[in-house]
Amino acid sequence: MTIKRILIYPEDCLKQVAKPVKIFDAELKALIQDMLDTMYDAPGVGLAAPQIGVSLRVAVTDVYWRSEEAGGQREHKVWINPEFLWKSENTEITEEGCLSLPDIYGDVERPNAVRLRWFDLEGKQYEEDFEGFQAVALQHEFDHLDGKVFIDYLSPLKRRMIIKRLKKKYLS
Ligand SMILES: [Zn+2]
Repeated sequence: MTIKRILIYPEDCLKQVAKPVKIFDAELKALIQDMLDTMYDAPGVGLAAPQIGVSLRVAVTDVYWRSEEAGGQREHKVWINPEFLWKSENTEITEEGCLSLPDIYGDVERPNAVRLRWFDLEGKQYEEDFEGFQAVALQHEFDHLDGKVFIDYLSPLKRRMIIKRLKKKYLS
């Protein structure tokens, strides 16, 4: 069990476009195990590789384990080289937070349905539609793979204030 340090925005790796995974090997499996250990420990419902300083297009999620209905039961998903094939015109506004921006929350408007293509640990390809909270959570996670975070959707003034606060509290 390895719990990694979660980077705080605006640390460098969080602002970079991550590289696609090309080799599906034991090293990748170990990375994903570290990501799961780190996500559950945090505790969070999603974690992207750049958040632990690895610039690869990999994310893990377990969007329901912290909900009341799940009662702590875990059911994680692994997303490798994810790619949206379609996003709905219909949007919804959700209050988002992020392990890399502790105690910061903001309303973000995103498409509320998506079609996704991704690979699993063995390199097998999948395609599926998602909607609602799951669709929103996936867009949040995969933004990390493009060097984006949810505060990029807020006003420039609000964004500047938040970055200043995070730098002062965590990175000075
Ligand atoms: Zn995040």
